[in-house]
Amino acid sequence: MKNLFGTILTILVLAGLSIGISSLISRQSSTNFLSDARPQKNTTQLDAKNLPPLPEVFSDVPVPPSATKATETITPTPIAEEKYTLDRYYNVIPVTPGGDRKVVLITVDDGPIATSTLGPMLETFAQYNVHALFFVLGSRVSAHPELLKKIVDGGHTIGNHTWDHPNLKNSSNASIKSQIDRTSALLEKTIGTTPHFFRPPYGSSNTYTQNYVKEKKMLFMTWSLGAEDWIKKYQSGDALAEHVLSGVAPGSNILLHEHAWTRDALDRIIVGILDKGYTIIDPKDIVLPE
Ligand SMILES: [Zn+2]
Repeated sequence: MKNLFGTILTILVLAGLSIGISSLISRQSSTNFLSDARPQKNTTQLDAKNLPPLPEVFSDVPVPPSATKATETITPTPIAEEKYTLDRYYNVIPVTPGGDRKVVLITVDDGPIATSTLGPMLETFAQYNVHALFFVLGSRVSAHPELLKKIVDGGHTIGNHTWDHPNLKNSSNASIKSQIDRTSALLEKTIGTTPHFFRPPYGSSNTYTQNYVKEKKMLFMTWSLGAEDWIKKYQSGDALAEHVLSGVAPGSNILLHEHAWTRDALDRIIVGILDKGYTIIDPKDIVLPE
């Protein structure tokens, strides 16, 4: 009887010890494993029986040492950058429903022509940290590749505006294809990338042009606000700035040219647009065709 009692006692003691040890091991390993992932208060309540199941991420995926810092560092939430698209009138509109529509795009066509006009325009854009879309002609890039590089160095975007500005509506399919391809090839050779935007001269085109531009994964656009800097009465800095600012509306896709009077008006145009509370979007934020 005494022996039996002794044996039971020994078993109980051993069993108790064993549970204690396994519980200790279990607690030890669990707390080590989860120390960075759980709130501190839970670690004191850990119990072998009541341990909640491990989170999925820990049970199968090895956690690299650096990941243990994740809960200690506050990572700022990145602000989603708004993207834009074009409506049927070629206005720029935010992709997000309810996004800010008080935006404009500035485009400069027909260059690059000369340092005397382009240089100050690039300086003005840089001064206000504004980025424009330059629709260039292949023939002019061929004459002044160094000017094209200056535009790109200013962070601006380049678009294809044909080789030498024909009216595509009156052109053969072969000629349209050649006007587009020759220009894109020269752009790639000069700046290392093919353009993602196309604008037909005079805003004039046909179905073949539009389909070919689409096939080449370029975004076709004309404009929605012409500065009319080709009209005599607007060929002074003051008159042109006033004319453009009187026409600015939400989404305006503004067409400017590389002219001396446009150069002279540019500072006033940008300041006026910003004073009216508009954001001048970067063409890089326009969603491109896939
Ligand atoms: Zn043009």
